[in-house]
Amino acid sequence: MSGLVDNIRASLLGLKMPRAMEMLDHMVQRLEKGEIGAIEAIDGLLSEEFNCREDRRVGVALTTARLTPPKTLESFDFTFQPSLDRDRIMALAQLDFIKRAEVVHFLGPPGTGKSHLATALGVAAVKKGKSVYRATLAELVEAMSKAEREGRLVDKIRFYARASLLIVDEIGYLPITQGGANLFFQLVNARYEKGAMILTSNRGFAEWGEVFGDPVVATALLDRLLHHAVVVQIEGASYRLRAHADLIPEHVRANAPITPPPAPKRRGRPPRKEKQIETAG
Ligand code: ADP
Ligand code: MG
Repeated sequence: MSGLVDNIRASLLGLKMPRAMEMLDHMVQRLEKGEIGAIEAIDGLLSEEFNCREDRRVGVALTTARLTPPKTLESFDFTFQPSLDRDRIMALAQLDFIKRAEVVHFLGPPGTGKSHLATALGVAAVKKGKSVYRATLAELVEAMSKAEREGRLVDKIRFYARASLLIVDEIGYLPITQGGANLFFQLVNARYEKGAMILTSNRGFAEWGEVFGDPVVATALLDRLLHHAVVVQIEGASYRLRAHADLIPEHVRANAPITPPPAPKRRGRPPRKEKQIETAG
């Protein structure tokens, strides 16, 4: 028996299965005590090794994909964002949009969870073995400009086009120069109908001309980015500011109209305060 266990140990060493080797004595003891059967022992050893490798693979892939800090859909509080259809997001998490090379847009004001959801879908894709890359639009444009100056643009675009899923975060926060818009257009064109994308933006599509400093390029971009697309509009308050809602002026709160709507008409005598405002105005 111990000769055979030594044999197994040598095989695990040769196969480079350190986690299974670590577990070997423990499994043999349980087997001898009759706590588990042979099949369970084999399963225990192999699944320990597999899970350990899988964790390492996912960890490396998340760093390479720049999906840090990682986010999950389980940690997303859907009750905080009632405008968001949970079933729709869970359907996206099945990742068929990646197979279909579609574009998912998350639109909404700051702090509404756009980057969280994009990252969580990226993490789910990495777990399923897909190649993913995440960057902000500003980072992509900066990297492509640098590559262009150094005569490496074709390689750079090829690199960004290779991932099964490219996440472009933060469209609209920083204005893009016309040169930058052209570079982004080349990238979008390289991925068009070939690879999936997730885009996040705090600006509506009508404002893309402004964001990209060129209405013609913006139209051409949108033409491709809306062709096979899923648009998820989030209308709600910032999760970042949830603890401080009372400190934020009404007009700064997400989605609050700049001019507050007129107070609803009430029956009967209006309360004193309203009356005072009316006479003052
Ligand atoms: P956005 O990209 O829309 O500006 P983020 O996705 O970066 O917003 O969200 C800001 C922070 O709040 C992040 O740390 C994110 O994980 C967290 N967050 C946002 N919405 C939720 C939510 N509904 N449930 C849990 N955490 C959330
Ligand atoms: Mg964000």
